[in-house]
Amino acid sequence: MQQLRIGNGYDIHRLLAGRPLILGGQPLQHPEGLGLDGHSDADVLVHAIMDALLGALSLGDIGLYFPPDDPQWKGADSLVLLEQVVGLVRQRGWSVVNVDTVVVAERPKLKPHIAAMRAAIAARMGLEPDQVGVKATTNERLGPEGREEGISCQAVALLQKD
Ligand code: MG
Repeated sequence: MQQLRIGNGYDIHRLLAGRPLILGGQPLQHPEGLGLDGHSDADVLVHAIMDALLGALSLGDIGLYFPPDDPQWKGADSLVLLEQVVGLVRQRGWSVVNVDTVVVAERPKLKPHIAAMRAAIAARMGLEPDQVGVKATTNERLGPEGREEGISCQAVALLQKD
C-alpha cells in the first residue's frame, strides 16, 4: 500500500526599511522600499515549505537545523537550505508529491512573480513547477500583514514513500 505523509508549515517575518525583499528566491521591490527582517534572507515562502516538509516526517522545524543564532546561516540563501531539507526527506526514502502555499502580503503585487517563484522552488526541490503551488492574498488591510508590519506564509507538503 502506498504510504503518504502530510505536513504543514507557517512563517512570518517583519517588514523593515533597508532589508531586501526576497520571496521564493525572487528579489522583489516593495513600493515603500521595505524588506523582510531575519537572520537568513528571511524568505518566508521557502521557510514555510521547509517546515511543511520537516513536519510531514516529524523531523522538527527549521530552527533545529538552521538555528537563527548560528553565524553560518547569516544572510543564507533559503533555497540552499530548502535543498538540504529535501535531501533529508530523500535520505529517509520519501519523495515529495506536491507542495502548496499561500503568501499573505498587502504589497507588492505578487502575481507577476508567481511563475518565477514556482520555477525556482521546483528546480531546487527536483520537482516540476506544477508540483509547487504558490498563491498570494492580501489580508484586506487587517492584522499585522494588513498593516504591512510583516509578510506571512502557510504551506502544506505531501510526501510518498519510495
Ligand atoms: Mg523564517
